[in-house]
Amino acid sequence: SLSDKLQNIFKNLRGKGRLSESDVKAALREVKMALLEADVNFKVVKQFVKSVEERAIGQDVMESLTPGQMVIKIVNEEMIKLMGSETTEIALKSGSEITVIMMAGLQGAGKTTTTAKLAGKFKAQGRKPLLVACDVYRPAAVEQLKINGEKQGVPVFAMGTNQNPVDIAKAGIEHAKSNGNNIVILDTAGRLHVDEDMMTELQNIKSSVGVDQTILVVDSMTGQDAVNVASSFDEKIGIDGVILTKLDGDTRGGAALSIKAVTGKPILYAGMGEKLSDLEQFHPDRMASRILGMGDVLSLIEKAEAQIDADKAAEMEKKLRKAEFDFNDYLEYMGQIKNMGGLGSIMNMLPGMGFAGKIKTDGVDMDEAEKNLKRTEAIILSMNNAERSRPDILNPSRKNRIARGAGVDISEVNRVVKQFEQMKKMMKQMPGMMKQFGGKKGRF
Ligand code: GDP
Ligand code: MG
Repeated sequence: SLSDKLQNIFKNLRGKGRLSESDVKAALREVKMALLEADVNFKVVKQFVKSVEERAIGQDVMESLTPGQMVIKIVNEEMIKLMGSETTEIALKSGSEITVIMMAGLQGAGKTTTTAKLAGKFKAQGRKPLLVACDVYRPAAVEQLKINGEKQGVPVFAMGTNQNPVDIAKAGIEHAKSNGNNIVILDTAGRLHVDEDMMTELQNIKSSVGVDQTILVVDSMTGQDAVNVASSFDEKIGIDGVILTKLDGDTRGGAALSIKAVTGKPILYAGMGEKLSDLEQFHPDRMASRILGMGDVLSLIEKAEAQIDADKAAEMEKKLRKAEFDFNDYLEYMGQIKNMGGLGSIMNMLPGMGFAGKIKTDGVDMDEAEKNLKRTEAIILSMNNAERSRPDILNPSRKNRIARGAGVDISEVNRVVKQFEQMKKMMKQMPGMMKQFGGKKGRF
């Protein structure tokens, strides 16, 4: 897959020290190949590589990151830009005013399924969607929409298959008006290929019923074809946004990377499976992480970049292994945590820590933890050097002196000492932890 290939390229940059212009160019030649193989549009690849190169070579990039990390960082940022940077919402009218959404796309792209998936999203937002069956060429399509609508608990409006799609759409909107629906989603008929009849039919619907949003549904597995299809639809009928389906089976990411750049139209949602709940809002940053295959580690790099000295982290880990970890190290370690934006943000970023949900919803506890961190710091700062480097000499009289110096009760000092011992133990059990902060010895 693309992510495997890119990871390999960057792995080769590891440990090369400073990155020269020829290093950047060599790496980007590989990136270019990988993107082309992933079926990213040729023009998009060219422009992409150019902008990465301009940034990488022009900048004094290699100060705080390893060369590979720096290239990953720039590639990642450019990928996000390419996909539109921001998440785009479907524009809906407010209150009881009806928003008419027309779904368009080739046969099998996933229109009918996505229509029902979207309806579920709108319903969850407290909207009242109505689905309208405008695919009159396949009786099974009407039935499919009815079944899916029922599963979602959303009404479906259908007429016979001997009716004109424009008339069905009109009648559907009237039905919505008299039944209090504020969103109408028109499920239209596709064809196997881009074809004049289909385009004319869609143009007719669009010009006769006042469509507010035309959403193109494309199959991401078709790669560059998906992009060509998007261009044709946009030229012929004008689209407002794209939903990429079957992203669950697409390991290449070619369509996702090219569509916005080629058509200028945002990707709104991504279909992630056949189940009606498998529709996700499209986040360019998450998609870039997915294509790079590095998850939230990317954001960790970014934060760590400025503050963390990889050598220091490696040295600290060595100390931990040898159980030399003392209060001076503890102090430094806490400083690093502060620089990285506090405990909460770190715990949220570390994969597999299992803290994410709790910390996000439990802001009060985190505030308490940060306060604790400050108190702990004050206590350690009240220790003299001998005490910091040899915690075992901390007897009650020393602890009393420290407590007075920090303006806390002696029980607080005891708590810090205990915390320190626990930390030391925990760090020994998780030798990989410091690597996450470090970099040079880490995954890249
Ligand atoms: P339409 O002809 O454009 O209306 O396409 P359908 O909605 O009938 O979908 C065609 C096929 O693609 C069906 O078997 C769907 O279950 C499947 N499908 C649609 N969206 C997705 C998706 O996001 N992931 C996967 N794996 N299958 C999908
Ligand atoms: Mg259909």
